[in-house]
Amino acid sequence: MKRLQTDHVDLFFIHSITGIDQMTPAFKAWAAEMKQAGKIKFFGFSTHTNMADCLAGAAKLDWIDAVMMTYNFRVMQTPEMQAAVNACAKSGIGLVAMKTQGSGPRASKTASKGEMDMLGRFQERGFTDKQAKLKVVWETPQIASLCSQMPNLTILSANVAAARDQVKLAREEFESLRQYALETQADYCAGCGSICQEAVGGAVPVNEVMRCLMYYREYGEPELARQTFAGLPEAVRQRLTAVDYSRAEQACPQKLAIAQLMRQAAEMLA
Ligand code: SF4
Repeated sequence: MKRLQTDHVDLFFIHSITGIDQMTPAFKAWAAEMKQAGKIKFFGFSTHTNMADCLAGAAKLDWIDAVMMTYNFRVMQTPEMQAAVNACAKSGIGLVAMKTQGSGPRASKTASKGEMDMLGRFQERGFTDKQAKLKVVWETPQIASLCSQMPNLTILSANVAAARDQVKLAREEFESLRQYALETQADYCAGCGSICQEAVGGAVPVNEVMRCLMYYREYGEPELARQTFAGLPEAVRQRLTAVDYSRAEQACPQKLAIAQLMRQAAEMLA
């Protein structure tokens, strides 16, 4: 707070939880104490992992004010996520969407005909696919806000234009994004880490490594990718290419080529 030059923060998140069991009674007591002292107004957590489970769990607690979670045109399609988002909205939890562009650990391939048609349709309506991906989140009534990384003025201007523009997505535009999500599902890690981690006996937090690859390839931020990767325990980094990922690949709902991607991560990020 000293560095921020403030005496309080409006919203305090515990960053990047992977399961609701991490929101222990100690956090509940701490949040109450900080609110009492006027240091924070609202309390919650952020999550990139097992988001639907974390949200569903938060809806059952009476001391979570807000959650920031990975949410985009891809993950919004699953019934689990839809139910979890509804449960939070019903409980009065403010939801902040992040990772809204739905980028994944694999570099985008050449655009398919379906994707070209989708881009053409968006262009005719006066927005880009990136702006459409923001709109589809903004048009979800349960989402209170959207957190978007804007490293340059071009992206800032595009986001502001999309936010101010009143044009709503048409039904077929929602559908084309849904279709695109299906066609490119093997390029995207949906963060359902409990599935693949269980399949590798807890040896590797696969979706965390996938996120590093996404920072490297889709965000074009090799330093952030390497730093995040370096934050994983050394033993995990050492065993990355020695683990048998065949069960995890079978279990992965996105059908990701996990073994190949883990090898690439070891080569690129070490
Ligand atoms: S690799 Fe597959 S199973 Fe693991 S978190 Fe990503 S999408 Fe889910």
